[in-house]
Amino acid sequence: MARKVLVLEDESSIRGFIVINLTRAGYEVIEAESGEEALELLQKNSDIRVALLDIMLPGIDGFEVCRRIRATNTTIGIIMLTARSQEMDKVTGLMTGADDYVTKPFSPAELTARVDALFRRAGGGLAAPEQAGEIVQPPFRLNTRNRTLEKNGERVKLTQVEYAIMKMFMENPGKALSREEILDTVWGRDYFGELKIVDVNIRRLRLKIEDNAQNPTYITTVWGYGYKWGF
Ligand code: CA
Repeated sequence: MARKVLVLEDESSIRGFIVINLTRAGYEVIEAESGEEALELLQKNSDIRVALLDIMLPGIDGFEVCRRIRATNTTIGIIMLTARSQEMDKVTGLMTGADDYVTKPFSPAELTARVDALFRRAGGGLAAPEQAGEIVQPPFRLNTRNRTLEKNGERVKLTQVEYAIMKMFMENPGKALSREEILDTVWGRDYFGELKIVDVNIRRLRLKIEDNAQNPTYITTVWGYGYKWGF
């Protein structure tokens, strides 16, 4: 299984830092300096499992790159590289379809842990094979063999992280799940990230599965604690 990662970063010193560290961690790194170049390289290398996208770039920005990738590819893991001063970028990035973000400056250990976590999630790791089957809770049908979700018989396109959250919910109907529990289960215990990533992914998931995301009835909020699959 190829351990291919794409790095889109226009600043060569930061890109070099990322490439050295990911190469050391055993990844094959493909480099891009612009969004246009990244999209082209992704087309040529369909076995890239994870993409790291800087946001501020000459030409199209990282959000637009993320949007264009997600229009055709839901399985690749996407990490946005954000600056500390751009707090909103994190949320915007996740809403455009990213799975995670890393705030600059980051340590090699943090970077590698994030990529490892997504790499496993994107099906490239050594995770135990999923038990094949189906979880049916009308109007939803989750197929754990194909990792797909249907609502009223229609396919709902999910990212790998969204799928993992849905699976956790559907395996625990009616149970309040804490944000920490969701973070541990979906992102892994060795994950360095913040709880906010759970909230943003759930916001995005609600847009996809709720009848009215403003007034969610399937994924309900348990105030001060987490979320509940409302069955
Ligand atoms: Ca930049």
